[in-house]
Amino acid sequence: MLEVQAVSKAFRGIHAIEDVSFRIEPNSITSLIGPNGAGKTTMINVITGVLAPTRGALLFAGQPIAGRRPHQVASLGIRRTFQTVRLFDKLTVRENLTVGGYRQLSGRRWLHRFLPMNLGDAAGRRRADEVLAMFDLTALADEIATDLPYGTQRRVELARALMGRPRFALLDEPAAGMNEKETAQLVRDVRRIRDEGVTVLLVEHDMSMVMSVSDKVVVLNFGRKIAEGTPGEVQRNPDVIASYLGSDDA
Ligand code: ATP
Repeated sequence: MLEVQAVSKAFRGIHAIEDVSFRIEPNSITSLIGPNGAGKTTMINVITGVLAPTRGALLFAGQPIAGRRPHQVASLGIRRTFQTVRLFDKLTVRENLTVGGYRQLSGRRWLHRFLPMNLGDAAGRRRADEVLAMFDLTALADEIATDLPYGTQRRVELARALMGRPRFALLDEPAAGMNEKETAQLVRDVRRIRDEGVTVLLVEHDMSMVMSVSDKVVVLNFGRKIAEGTPGEVQRNPDVIASYLGSDDA
C-alpha cells in the first residue's frame, strides 16, 4: 500500500529523518515508534504532503506521492488524526462527523465558521450513523462532542476519519492521555478500522497498545530506522532495548 524509499528530511542541517525505508502491506496495522525527536511526526508530515522530503521517494498504491500537496494526498484516500483533539465545539458528535470532510480538506481551524448551517446531506448523515454504530457511539450522537470525556472525544475523531471511507489512516498518538479502559477500547477500534479494509499507520508511545495491535513495528532513533519486524522481533532486538524500550521514555 505504501512504500517509503530512502526518505530523508533535513531542516537547515538538522536531519529529522535520514535514509528511512519501509513497506506497509495493504490491510495491515503498522506502528512507527521511537523516542521523542526520533522523526515520527516528520515522517507523518512527509507522507501526508505537509512536508516535501529532501531526498527519497514515496509510493502509495504504486503512485509516487512525494512532494504532492496535502489535499492531493487526501484525495487518494489518505487520512490522518492529530495528537491533540480537534473537534468543533458547539457541534454534536454526529455533526462533527458530517462536517469532517470540509475540515480535513481545508486544514484550517477557522473555516467551519463560514460553513453553511446545513450540516451534511442525507447520505452524509446515513454514513455518520453507520460509522457511529461501528464505534458504539450511537447513544452519544446528539451530545455536544466537546462536552464528552477526553477519551471519547478522541474516539469521535477516529470515527470522523472513517467518514470518507479512506484507504489509509495515519493515527498520531491516539492513546495519549487515555486511561487503561479507554486504551483497551481504542485497540478494538483500531482493529475495527483495519477490518473495514483500511490500512493503518500508528504512531504511539503506549507500548502495550503497540505490541498488542501491530502486525509490524518500525523503530526510529535519531531519524534513522534501527529495527523493523513483528512486535516479538522488535521487543527482542538489543538496539531497540538499548535506545527505547529499556529507557524510561517507553
Ligand atoms: P515526538 O515523539 O516528541 O513527537 P518525533 O519522533 O515525532 O518526536 P519529530 O517531531 O519528527 O520527532 O522531530 C525530529 C527532529 O526534527 C527533532 O530533532 C526536531 O527538533 C526536528 N524538527 C522537527 N520539525 C522541525 C522543524 N519544522 N524545524 C526544525 N527542526 C524540526
